[in-house]
Amino acid sequence: MTLAPPYPLEGVVSWNMNTTCNYRCTYCTQRFLDDRTRWARDLPAFVAAFARLPGDWEIKLSGGEPFLHPGFLGLVEALVTQGRRVSVVTNLSAKEKTLLRFASLTAARPGVISASLHLEHADPEAFRAKAERLAAAHAGRLCVTCVATRTNLPRLAELRAAFAPLPFKVQPEKQDREVIDYGEDERDALEALGGHNGTGEIAPDYEGRACWAGARYFIVDDRGEAYRCYPSRRVRGERLGNLLDGTFRPRFAAEPCRYTYCNCTVPRERGMVRGGP
Ligand code: SF4
Ligand code: SF4
Repeated sequence: MTLAPPYPLEGVVSWNMNTTCNYRCTYCTQRFLDDRTRWARDLPAFVAAFARLPGDWEIKLSGGEPFLHPGFLGLVEALVTQGRRVSVVTNLSAKEKTLLRFASLTAARPGVISASLHLEHADPEAFRAKAERLAAAHAGRLCVTCVATRTNLPRLAELRAAFAPLPFKVQPEKQDREVIDYGEDERDALEALGGHNGTGEIAPDYEGRACWAGARYFIVDDRGEAYRCYPSRRVRGERLGNLLDGTFRPRFAAEPCRYTYCNCTVPRERGMVRGGP
């Protein structure tokens, strides 16, 4: 195993708090779920479970589309009161006043707003204007992401320039859980755009490297099921228990990565695993 990166002082939870979404993107990784109407029911139980986590944590709210959860803003307020940093991944389709309320609630300890531009549903110019207004009101970072489908790919360099100075990251398209079979020119274009979320790589492979996921990062769904990271959940391995029923057991140390494809942005971006070839 490689030398472990330094202990991450702030842990991160990626919480897929609902499967509901107002869009139906052709590349959505959740589109094969049996039930796309699920949402976390017992929010106070989740808030209490997050309060029990050891040390400092950021809660990254995701879905589906998390702003569709009926208790969304109340939950954000409860997490902020608890002292947690709150981030969100959103398709930005919520009403502007609701998005601005999120910015205002999180102002004391702002997180990241990841605004996903879905070109099958959203007009890029209207999306850009909305993202700019939200970024101006948000004390933390706002970055725009877009999936590099074969249809989108030829447009992305121009779109990235149009969105500047907002950060604009691309995500390779996945089908059947694997990155699609891009041709050589397409791979060159993707790498020129920064690869997967700015990592410089299209399908990062950190197998064998020490990673803090499982100890200072984990993912959890709307039912409280917790896994080390997205690739671990994909193979139903390295389950950490359930956050709501008392069986949740995080790890204590960095451990070797067991996967040949890491599509988790957080551990890489937060220095929990050493990236690069
Ligand atoms: S907006 Fe996101 S969650 Fe909703 S369908 Fe598209 S990819 Fe899936
Ligand atoms: S797949 Fe990524 S997040 Fe998961 S253990 Fe490996 S490096 Fe860490």
